[in-house]
This record gives sequence, structure tokens and C-alpha cells, in this order.
Amino acid sequence: MIKVSQVHKIYPSSKKGEDVHAVNDVSFECKPGRVFALLGPNGSGKTTMLRMISTMMQPTRGSLAVAGLDTSKDTEKIRKTLGFLTGSAGLHEKLSAAESLEFFGQLHGIRGDELRKRKEFLIERFELGEFLNRATGKLSMGQKQRVMLARTLIHDPQVVIFDEATTGLDVLAAKGLIEIIRDCRQEGKTVLFSTHIMGEVAMLADDVSILHEGRQIYSGTMDELKSQQQSVSLEDEFIKLLESATEKSGGNS
Ligand code: ADP
Ligand code: MG
Repeated sequence: MIKVSQVHKIYPSSKKGEDVHAVNDVSFECKPGRVFALLGPNGSGKTTMLRMISTMMQPTRGSLAVAGLDTSKDTEKIRKTLGFLTGSAGLHEKLSAAESLEFFGQLHGIRGDELRKRKEFLIERFELGEFLNRATGKLSMGQKQRVMLARTLIHDPQVVIFDEATTGLDVLAAKGLIEIIRDCRQEGKTVLFSTHIMGEVAMLADDVSILHEGRQIYSGTMDELKSQQQSVSLEDEFIKLLESATEKSGGNS
């Protein structure tokens, strides 16, 4: 459902500095009915990767396909089948949760009964009822995040991408998100999420790719990762993989 082939992304230097190789020869595949985790520390290239998959940005080299469609050509079609939650895409602070859902539903071409039903479902699923008509600018961080999640799923996308979505959520809300991800998998959607927390990967993922300074230092199923694990915990295993990658790259950033 998502196919990433030998993708590179170079950000040109601003003024005199060096170019940033944010993503360096990365390939992987995310399949329907499975949850794929993109794991890596800050600055490892996760958001860059997800923005390219979501057609927000084009790669410098390589190709990306979503539902068999090329992200460099079929931008509009891909956006219809894809829901992307990223920290940087904020809410219109003056709109209420209800208005945000309507606005984004209409943006995706959903109207009338269909929109009303989908809205009702999401309002219940994310417990938006108590603050439904309040301007989203006046909501707590956790409440905003719930509105953003509902908004991401308004068009019932077959491919769902969450960029560090648990950031800013309290324990209960994070637990809710984990349930959503499991529901999506159950419904046969393709789920891809990024995180810097191995615990989230261990809890949710079927497949995992680990990024370090833009390079893929591990890619495989969670079962494979667990079976080859030499450390006491997966968290330690993650750190060990990062450390050995740093040694190989000569410690250069
Ligand atoms: P992550 O999401 O894993 O924290 P990012 O994809 O945001 O990583 O960033 C990867 C690298 O690319 C970092 O070194 C970051 O500073 C750089 N970078 C990200 N966005 C830009 C941009 N718009 N222009 C230049 N460099 C960028
Ligand atoms: Mg990021």
C-alpha cells in the first residue's frame, strides 16, 4: 500500500552551510492490515520521510507510491485515500471542533448525510462532545490533539499516517490513540506512525524501520527484531543499534 524505493532528500544549504542529507537511500513497504513504525531519534529524518509519502514534498531522488499511485504525479488521488497527522499542521484556532470536522470533510468532498454520520462517529470515538462548539484555540493540548485526530480520519482514509502523535497527550489520551491504531489495523487500513519511543513500537508495530541520521539502520518485522535481540530490553536494543551506527559513520553527524 505504501512503497518507498531508494529515496533521498537533500535540503539545500541556506547561505554558506552544507546541504542537509535528511533522508539517505531509504526503502520500505507498508502493507494493509499492518502497523508500520518509523523509529528514530530527533533529526533522523522521520518527518521528512512522512511528508514525502503524504505528497507534501517531493524526494530529491527515488520514488514513492501510495495505493499504487506515484506521489510525484497522482497527488490529488493520493490525498483522498490518505490521512496525515503531523504536529506542524495546526488547527484554525477560531473554528470549533464541529466546524473543523465539517471544513475538512468538505475539503475532501464529503457532504450531507455521509458527512453527518462520519462526524457523529468521530465525535463519539474521540469524546469531543463536551467541548464540541468551543473554539479550538481555547482547548487544552490533549483536547486539540483529539480534534486533530478526528479531523485526520474524517474521510475514512485507507492509509493513515501519524507523525509523533502521542506527543502532548496524557496517558489516557495516548491509550485512546493506541486503540485507534489497533482499530485501523483491524479495519484493514495501512498504518504508518513515527516515534522516538521504542515502547510505542513494541506495543503496536508489526513492522519497523529504524532511522539514524537519515539512514535506515534496521528494517524488518517486529518478530524478527525480537528474535535477533541481544539486549535485555528492546529499548536497550534500540540504543545499541544507534550506537553501532554512530561508530560505523565515524561519529560524524
Ligand atoms: P525527525 O522528524 O526525525 O526529527 P526531520 O525530518 O524533521 O527529523 O529532520 C531531518 C533533518 O533535516 C534534520 O537535520 C533537520 O534539521 C533537517 N531539516 C528538516 N526540515 C528542514 C528544512 N525545511 N530545511 C532544511 N533542513 C531541514
Ligand atoms: Mg519529526
